[in-house]
Amino acid sequence: MHDVLIIGSGLGGLECGALLAKHGLKVLVLEGSNQPGGCMQSFRRGGLHYDTGLHYVGGLAPGQTMHRAFAQLGLMDLPWQRMDEDFDHVIIGGHRFVFHQGYETFAEGLAKDFPHQREALQSYIRRLQNITAADMDVCAYDYLQETFSDELLLNVVSAAAMKTELRRESLPLFNFAHTCSSYIESSWRLVGDGNLLVNRLTDIIEEAGGEVLTYSKVIRLTEQDGRVISATCANGQVYEAEYFISDIHPAVLCELLEECPSVRKTFRRRMQAAENTCGMFTAQLRIKPGALRYFAHNAFVYDKPNVWTMAEENEPVKGVMISGRVPEDGSENVRQIDLLTPMPWHECKEWIDTKVGRRGDDYKAFCQRKTEQCVALAEQYIPGLHDMVEQCYTSTPLTYRDYLGSPEGGAFGMRKDCRMSMLSFHSVSTPLPNLLLTGQSIILPGIEGVTMTAFETCGKIIK
Ligand SMILES: Cc1cc2nc3c(=O)[nH]c(=O)nc-3n(C[C@H](O)[C@H](O)[C@H](O)COP(=O)(O)OP(=O)(O)OC[C@H]3O[C@@H](n4cnc5c(N)ncnc54)[C@H](O)[C@@H]3O)c2cc1C
Repeated sequence: MHDVLIIGSGLGGLECGALLAKHGLKVLVLEGSNQPGGCMQSFRRGGLHYDTGLHYVGGLAPGQTMHRAFAQLGLMDLPWQRMDEDFDHVIIGGHRFVFHQGYETFAEGLAKDFPHQREALQSYIRRLQNITAADMDVCAYDYLQETFSDELLLNVVSAAAMKTELRRESLPLFNFAHTCSSYIESSWRLVGDGNLLVNRLTDIIEEAGGEVLTYSKVIRLTEQDGRVISATCANGQVYEAEYFISDIHPAVLCELLEECPSVRKTFRRRMQAAENTCGMFTAQLRIKPGALRYFAHNAFVYDKPNVWTMAEENEPVKGVMISGRVPEDGSENVRQIDLLTPMPWHECKEWIDTKVGRRGDDYKAFCQRKTEQCVALAEQYIPGLHDMVEQCYTSTPLTYRDYLGSPEGGAFGMRKDCRMSMLSFHSVSTPLPNLLLTGQSIILPGIEGVTMTAFETCGKIIK
């Protein structure tokens, strides 16, 4: 029998596994798919590795939040590379703005373009550095409107937050600020793919006598006397453990959990009624050798200053994130560029009943069209990009639904809503004392959010 059984080997599941293994606990991680890692996994095509949910990480310099966490997890000696001092470039309506690393330089840099908003920018960076749980109840968009009288600057500071779901009515300041602030502290890319993280965490678990099993989809959790006693997999295997941690979407967890008096209907209803964040469309471009110099920053290109509403509008694509992969062969040129844009679930409706690789020609045509729109927008930053592309792989929310079991292909798990923070932010504890939650749906998405949550989850076991 294992001390801890973890359902799902996403970043949160593996981080919990590694932390608990380091404390001498015997851990079993059950992963439904053929590969561990969830959004951290990568795939190989034509000799190159492509990531599925990793572009950059913030706050890894000594003394910063993520440095401490990654050092404890044994991840700090992976090949991290600090990005350019000007780590994010924002292009809105043809005008370029630059985000610099370091709070003061960030504010001063933007104050050059918006001198009349210097004080507002100072107030903004102070707020980013002092975010508390009370900001779960504060509407990010309202706060930005109160802070910046210049609508263009409001759009500029929000532009790189495309990597969360920008919804004017509901996004809590807590989430918005966490999405922006650690990157301002310092921004980093991994030289290599997300599997470096996955393999390191797996090694820590296995060296301590634990296991990470793939092709092990959990289909049932059995309860007895108010505790979970076992997990049953689709392949018929049954595993027992002292503690259980779920790194899967909480609504899916509720489906696996047998009816029992300890888990009231209100808990299930709350999880199952929760809304999901929107998904992402990604076009992963293989660039012709020697065609494009590597740039160690991201670019966010928007046609118009409509950063907060562009995802609600239909085609063509209105905003795109451009992120290059560090050349691993020391070359000055980049071979892989990712283009990302939000993609709401309703755009997938036509193909909801289809499976990977069998979605039909109209789906292929849709992906092709969307890619062309992304490339056209990205050309505002990389002129001539279209002709540099050798090959392209695309993914939509359907891809994330089918590979990771994420409902509606939501890129960032369950939606957080400042108007009902008590219902949309969750505790890592559940009504069953030996069943805990972790992962991006609980408090915050992204590598920082998931890592912080993993520490919180493990804190319930290692007292
Ligand atoms: C396109 C994209 C780009 C991103 N870029 C960045 C970035 O640059 N920086 C950043 O900080 N964050 C980024 N993120 C977010 C980040 O990748 C995620 O927040 C994080 O990896 C989620 O981890 P998780 O632990 O919640 O698990 P998930 O990745 O959701 O994994 C859950 C795992 O559980 C498994 N599973 C599901 N059901 C079962 C079951 N019944 N039994 C067993 N296993 C099961 C799934 O197969 C999966 O492996 C990005 C996300 C996306 C989608």
